[in-house]
Amino acid sequence: AKKNSGYQIRHYNNTMQSEISRRYQLQQSLKPALQQKAFYPVYQPIVDHTAQLCSVELLARWQHPQLGFISPEVFIPLLEEEGLITFLTLQMLQQGISQLAHWRKIQPNLRLSINFSAPDIANPELVAQLTKVLAQHTLPATALIIEITESILIEQSDVVMQQLCSLKQLGVSIALDDFGTGFSSLSYLDRYPVDILKIDRSFINKLGDTKARRLTLAIIHLAHELNLKITAEGVEHPQQLLLLQQEKCHYFQGYYFSKPLIAADIENKVSYSAKA
Ligand code: C2E
Ligand code: CA
Ligand code: CA
Ligand code: CA
Repeated sequence: AKKNSGYQIRHYNNTMQSEISRRYQLQQSLKPALQQKAFYPVYQPIVDHTAQLCSVELLARWQHPQLGFISPEVFIPLLEEEGLITFLTLQMLQQGISQLAHWRKIQPNLRLSINFSAPDIANPELVAQLTKVLAQHTLPATALIIEITESILIEQSDVVMQQLCSLKQLGVSIALDDFGTGFSSLSYLDRYPVDILKIDRSFINKLGDTKARRLTLAIIHLAHELNLKITAEGVEHPQQLLLLQQEKCHYFQGYYFSKPLIAADIENKVSYSAKA
């Protein structure tokens, strides 16, 4: 082992070095990517208790010209750090709303769910921008769901409260994303105008474990108690679905139903028969 340690340190340094230069390269590519509209949306179906498509969640994608496919878990935090996330959000909003307007000609009750970061909620232009994009496509604000994470609420600022109330007044629904993974101070659930609780995938894939299942059921009961709608994320197996249906979850999302799809493939799932 001693003989190898020099090599190992050098190897380690090289790995570090390439990691740093890759990160730098990614950072440098963010602005051009936004300018060239290189980020694009995919949409994951969300179904109701009758397995009918009722909304789609917009998820951003990025194919880097040299580095290939970059996960949103990598580029979203980078955009946040660089103060660029609101530009991505606006682009995704414009594309998503435009798509939704098209789909709603076929299925008038379909809704779009879109992920917002903290700077989006802090953006003073937000309500004006939203109103404008919706008006361009003559869509009601009720067609839109905004997903935020618990961390945004934990900060408990007046700005967040005001902004969420304005969105609510407009008719937008608010979903609390990845519920249960953050600090989960339950007190804010009552205080903020939240409509939907999205139970994180990590809870759904531990439903086979007795202790974890009890915790998940407690979260579901709490949501019912607070009159919140419940979306179960990351549903992959029929046994999970069965249990979650028994517990009266309202909406389901996960690979069991569909992976995120490009717009053209959503088109095949949008249904003429769904009632408005
Ligand atoms: P999220 O909002 O929790 O999105 C759900 C993630 O879980 C997506 O990963 C989706 O592809 C994945 N997923 C859905 N169903 C299943 C399943 O059954 N099994 C498994 N194993 N995974 C499933 P994705 O697209 O890689 O997105 C990761 C995260 O990146 C998102 O987590 C969200 O926090 C963030 N993100 C993506 N697009 C945007 C965006 O436009 N804006 C912001 N602010 N964040 C975004
Ligand atoms: Ca989400
Ligand atoms: Ca989530
Ligand atoms: Ca997540």
